[in-house]
Amino acid sequence: MTAEAAGCSHRASRRLSAALPHDGAMTPDATRDAGLARLADFVPRAGRAYAAERNTDRGPQDRSNVSTLSPWVRHRLVTEREVVEAVLQRHSLDAAGKFVQEVYWRTYWKGWLELRPSVWARYAASVAPTFDALSVADRATYNAAITGTTGIEGFDDWARELVELGYLHNHARMWFASIWIFTLRLPWQLGADFFLRHLLDGDPASNTLSWRWVAGLQTVGKTYLATADNIARYTDGRFRPRGLATVAHAVDDDAAVPPAGPAPVPEPLPRATRVALLLHEDDLHAESLPTLPPEVTVVGVALMRAISWARSP
Ligand SMILES: Cc1cc2nc3c(=O)[nH]c(=O)nc-3n(C[C@H](O)[C@H](O)[C@H](O)COP(=O)(O)OP(=O)(O)OC[C@H]3O[C@@H](n4cnc5c(N)ncnc54)[C@H](O)[C@@H]3O)c2cc1C
Repeated sequence: MTAEAAGCSHRASRRLSAALPHDGAMTPDATRDAGLARLADFVPRAGRAYAAERNTDRGPQDRSNVSTLSPWVRHRLVTEREVVEAVLQRHSLDAAGKFVQEVYWRTYWKGWLELRPSVWARYAASVAPTFDALSVADRATYNAAITGTTGIEGFDDWARELVELGYLHNHARMWFASIWIFTLRLPWQLGADFFLRHLLDGDPASNTLSWRWVAGLQTVGKTYLATADNIARYTDGRFRPRGLATVAHAVDDDAAVPPAGPAPVPEPLPRATRVALLLHEDDLHAESLPTLPPEVTVVGVALMRAISWARSP
């Protein structure tokens, strides 16, 4: 991979450095080498310690209980297989089972959406009309939510953390989405869009389907309700928001979940002698391409920095 292809934009790189505070042993950067270094650093903590500690959001100054590998994994600078293999070389599956399960959630969500692309298409098409349809009052609530000025303890901190750092702990993502939908009564699509625009790991499958899960659309009828006690417990008492919704009725604003369609079939590799590889933000891991036929020579590698259809409109 060329140096340019191996790295994202300088802006993304700077944000990644800021987003992922560490113990000084590494220099976080949006490169494969930095992702592999972070993986090596985290592997010793991926066993029982992860299972016991991972639910606590200690705040942006201490992310040592989770891997913070998601930006590299999402853009395939480091693959799920590499992550799981490295962890299982150090720990038994029994000890590292929880971590491996979490990595598999990503794989599962991607496969689920790949077989049901209409769920993404409907979401993507709904964002702009949903925003346009907000009432004046709801638009004010929306603006307060994305600027961290609702007055809801924790929620406002996470909104600012997301915008400034591009990362949120998994539990904070769940609390934030729940408060957005059930306390502020804002459309889930606009919350998913807010996340997708700011997360360094923003991912069509993991993000959209997690928001749908909180809203009760993914596991139909099952919602996620954030409570002040749970937030206080798993933020080490940093936040205890008041006035949260006490019920979470499932959202019912989307078509029924479609049955799984056929898996897309990969296009055959070109047999021409001269080819160029076009890398995009969904897959920066050219190393894992199937071996090219010997008569094929790669004469160029280009990096496409953004693909409009894979981002929120
Ligand atoms: C509302 C909401 C939105 C989310 N949006 C995204 C998103 O856009 N992109 C994204 O990668 N993840 C998303 N997640 C899942 C999860 O929050 C992040 O993957 C995780 O917090 C990343 O931090 P980490 O690398 O420290 O995770 P770790 O706990 O260290 O987990 C290791 C890896 O496993 C994967 N993983 C862990 N938990 C999950 C999960 N619940 N679902 C899918 N994959 C998981 C990630 O690739 C992660 O890097 C979302 C979750 C919620 C509730």
